[in-house]
Amino acid sequence: MSCRKLLSEISNYLDGEIELTVRQELEEHIAKCPNCWVIFDTTRKTVQIYQGCECEPYPIPVSLQTRLQEALRKLCEESQTKQD
Ligand SMILES: [Zn+2]
Repeated sequence: MSCRKLLSEISNYLDGEIELTVRQELEEHIAKCPNCWVIFDTTRKTVQIYQGCECEPYPIPVSLQTRLQEALRKLCEESQTKQD
C-alpha cells in the first residue's frame, strides 16, 4: 500500500467501513512507515475526541484533513528525495 492510498483509506478505516484485506494492508503499512503512523494516530485521536463528545456529531474539519494530508505528502516527498 502506498502512502497516498493509505491516506485515502484512513477515514474509511476509522469509520469501520473498510474491507478486511485493505485494513490489514493499512495496519501493516503504518507499522513500518513512521510518517503515516503519525498521521493515522493524529487523525484517530481527533476522531475519538469528537466521538467521545456528548454533543452533536461533528465531522473532522476539512481544513484539518487537508493539513494532515499536506503534511504527509511533504514528508513522503522528503523521504523519497533522501532515497535518491
Ligand atoms: Zn506511508
